[in-house]
Amino acid sequence: MAQAATIPPPPPFDEWLAELRDEAISKGLNSDIVDLALKDAKPIARVLELDRRQPEFTLTFWKYLSNAISDKRIKRGRELLAEHGPLLEQVAKKFGVQPRFLVAFWGLETNFGQYFGKIPVVGSLVTLAHDRRRAKFFRAQLLAALELMSKGDMPVDVGGSWAGAMGNFQFIPTTYRDFAVDGDGDGKRDLWNNLSDAFSSAANYLSKSGWNIDRTWGREIKLPKGFDLALIDPKIKKSLKEWQALGVRRADGRNLPVVAIEGSLVLPAGHKGPAFIIYSNFNSIMTWNRSTFYAIAIGHLADRFMGQGGVLTPPPVNEIALSRDNVIEIQNLLTAKGFDTNGVDGMIGPMTRKAVRSFQAKVGIPADGYPSMELLEKLRKY
Ligand code: CA
Repeated sequence: MAQAATIPPPPPFDEWLAELRDEAISKGLNSDIVDLALKDAKPIARVLELDRRQPEFTLTFWKYLSNAISDKRIKRGRELLAEHGPLLEQVAKKFGVQPRFLVAFWGLETNFGQYFGKIPVVGSLVTLAHDRRRAKFFRAQLLAALELMSKGDMPVDVGGSWAGAMGNFQFIPTTYRDFAVDGDGDGKRDLWNNLSDAFSSAANYLSKSGWNIDRTWGREIKLPKGFDLALIDPKIKKSLKEWQALGVRRADGRNLPVVAIEGSLVLPAGHKGPAFIIYSNFNSIMTWNRSTFYAIAIGHLADRFMGQGGVLTPPPVNEIALSRDNVIEIQNLLTAKGFDTNGVDGMIGPMTRKAVRSFQAKVGIPADGYPSMELLEKLRKY
């Protein structure tokens, strides 16, 4: 991304911090706690480094899934579902989220509470709020964190991820402020040491994002030969009956369930990879984390806890992950040939996928919008 060059320099730190302190106090926060929290605050070089990091290779769907889901994680999740069964059932009843999904989020976020992150939250948020790249967003996060400290929800020296995500479910401060719940009624919302608070908060957040306890997330499907790939679009919703009529089946070949619900189709690894039908709960997962891979991994992990098998479509034999340079070359070639990628940044976003689709349609290859090595070679020769 060209953005590193375009980030303006930050303002002088001491003045900026004094002004931030004034804003916190003017919002009615406890000045003793604010001063204690900000006492030794200064920018952390490592946090900026992590913020600017750009992976050399794109992560493929299969690599992502194998990182997220292991036999060990499935086994541990099942044990914890049993161990915390009564509490999870109580939370499920109150907030309307099935226990298996709560435990799946718990597993992906912190390996079931094994790793909360150790970077001081005030330090990382001060760094990112002072820095200009996403100053507005992180200033709001920092003020929310100070508010939570001021109310006694969390201590001032609390640790988290490099970007200020905290506790068993890695809530950012505004999510914590707006959605965390005091599950055990002791007057505090403790997302680290109190599982009643942590589970209730995760369930409340999902519930407020539209979760429906009577539904699952989606499932793997099989597309018929010659299926119109233009129908694979999260914006295109059809009833299961309509998809069934178009030849869509469960991955094992059986008919789709007979229920009056709508779904959309996704192809996370292109037309040679697995296809999924996704329901409204998938959008709630995407509210939590705007990544299709993440949402599929959550749903799939929840299924695995209940004894379902792995993804039926086999992984490709020798899929090569695209490097950043490959993606930049794809974007440059598409742009030069009149397919607008909305700039060249080395990242595969919606505009790049759309441009890939248009190119594929034009040259008569399956238009799945999936950038691959094969596609790059086609573009070079075009
Ligand atoms: Ca509590």
